[in-house]
Amino acid sequence: MATDSALRLGIDLGGTKIEAALLDPTGDIIWRHRIPAPRDAYPATIKAVERLVHQARAMEPSAVNCSIGIGIPGSLSPRDGRVRNANSTWLNGQPFKRDLEAALRQTVQMANDANCLAVSEATDGAACDAQSVFAVILGTGVGGAHVIHKQLVTGANGVAGEWGHTPLPWMTAEEFKHAPCWCGRSGCIETFLSGPALVQEFNTSGHAKVESVQEILGMADPANRQALALMERFYDRLARALAMVINIIDPEVIVIGGGLSNIASIYSEIPKRWGRWIFSDMAAVTRLVPALHGDASGVRGAAWL
Ligand SMILES: [Zn+2]
Repeated sequence: MATDSALRLGIDLGGTKIEAALLDPTGDIIWRHRIPAPRDAYPATIKAVERLVHQARAMEPSAVNCSIGIGIPGSLSPRDGRVRNANSTWLNGQPFKRDLEAALRQTVQMANDANCLAVSEATDGAACDAQSVFAVILGTGVGGAHVIHKQLVTGANGVAGEWGHTPLPWMTAEEFKHAPCWCGRSGCIETFLSGPALVQEFNTSGHAKVESVQEILGMADPANRQALALMERFYDRLARALAMVINIIDPEVIVIGGGLSNIASIYSEIPKRWGRWIFSDMAAVTRLVPALHGDASGVRGAAWL
């Protein structure tokens, strides 16, 4: 059971990395560590998290009884507590919370990674002054979460904000032919806007090949038509996908987190494009901002769980 220790350990389990951070009572990070996430291996994932917790406890004597919160891609089913909807598909169907608690001999809090980001940014981040906030993760996976008055909206089915697995709106004929999603459906926003989706699309769109989005950005100068065309499609699709969010819940702030949130051009290019799709008679006043706590936002939100 988490106890009186005022320290909080947050763990952000991503598709490619697992990050841990120990927060003091004021919310300052006093220790932070990142390791690669095991792929396609459930027992190895448990072991990796266990090792991170032991490292945190060894670093700081008063962390022995710290609370532990974990953000995961996906969510726990209200039906049986097992993981569902994770793009780290080896977690799906597993009683991850129960198994981790058994391994650590301690209660842990577990929530969707986009929910952690939203809570972190609405509490003391880029959207701390807003009543209604939509947070988006653009990374290995794509997800969203909605916070009103700093409270997470979970929804009747526990799927509020699952923006990544709704179809890309106003699809072109070409986009209708896009590859299916791991979730079994077609047209999901994640299949267009995740990091791996961008890399794959780039590698099938011309002669040049890359391994990361960073490489594409490095090439996106006026001389490289392949990279420029890809970024243009990315901006256009993200603008449409966010305009749909504005048309439905009309938040004051949209915060972006995850690996792709570091693409600085997003925050100027998207608002130039989304007006065409927003059902309003005036220019949108919605603020589109990067997570204030950057890629530490997920881990901070997890710690606050
Ligand atoms: Zn999907």
